[in-house]
Amino acid sequence: MTKDQLLTRLSSTATAVLTRRRVLLAGAAACGAAGTAGLLTPGSGGEPVPPSPPAAGSQARPELKPSAYRLQPLTGYGPPRVEPARALVRREPFLRLSGRGSTMVLTFDDGPDPRYTPHILDTLAEYDVRAMFFVCGEMASYHPDLLVRMADDGHVVGNHTWSHPLLTRLSRGRIRYEMERTSDLIEDVYGERPQWFRAPYGAWNRAAFQLGAELGMEPLAWTIDTLDWTRPGTRAIVGRVEHGAAPGVVVLSHDAGGDRTQSVRALRDYLPHLLDCGYHITVPRRQPV
Ligand SMILES: [Zn+2]
Repeated sequence: MTKDQLLTRLSSTATAVLTRRRVLLAGAAACGAAGTAGLLTPGSGGEPVPPSPPAAGSQARPELKPSAYRLQPLTGYGPPRVEPARALVRREPFLRLSGRGSTMVLTFDDGPDPRYTPHILDTLAEYDVRAMFFVCGEMASYHPDLLVRMADDGHVVGNHTWSHPLLTRLSRGRIRYEMERTSDLIEDVYGERPQWFRAPYGAWNRAAFQLGAELGMEPLAWTIDTLDWTRPGTRAIVGRVEHGAAPGVVVLSHDAGGDRTQSVRALRDYLPHLLDCGYHITVPRRQPV
């Protein structure tokens, strides 16, 4: 099928998006690694895959060629509408996800925050992309409408505890309370219990892995830390994502916890670029244990 044939089959809205992306394509710099789309799943063996070195720097990125692939990405993988799968007790979180093709996962932590989360949702919607939001239960209780929108837009909501404590300093009972209360709220508002858990500050311990498994959640960390919470400047955030872009990479950003204006702006910059480079931005699917 030719590009023109494809275009005629798309709605006017989708065509508008494509038109914008064609414009972006014309002027965009290119990425290093790229490839075909594929299903993104954690390895069935349950062992986290160690992170690979970042892809070659963007300074020497080859010129991007127009690709029919870019005219076919108007679908995504929504959250699986099934009961939470049983989870194994891990010893380490997943740092990246294995799978075929140039898939990447965007994650946003600590929200939702009505000052920033809606802008991020708008950008994701503009490009018809699904992402993960590791929400704090307390924040979500203040802004349930944003969780509803995440569900409506097909995003995956993960558990990031109720109040964002350092779990390694808490009793097992308190960790359970932080995790379980958040899962309950997510189920009530989002519509299903979270299948993924991320420890605040990336500070995991045995109790967090055990309780996460009991609650049906897999631990997911990240491959690229954008350090956006340090407010290093929009360009610095964009640069970290684009330099680290590679198949299976999980990107950490924040949509709350402080002034996230730079995080919002950076997404508007790097998301179309990643798509132009052939990356399939998706959300992970759990495999049955
Ligand atoms: Zn956090």
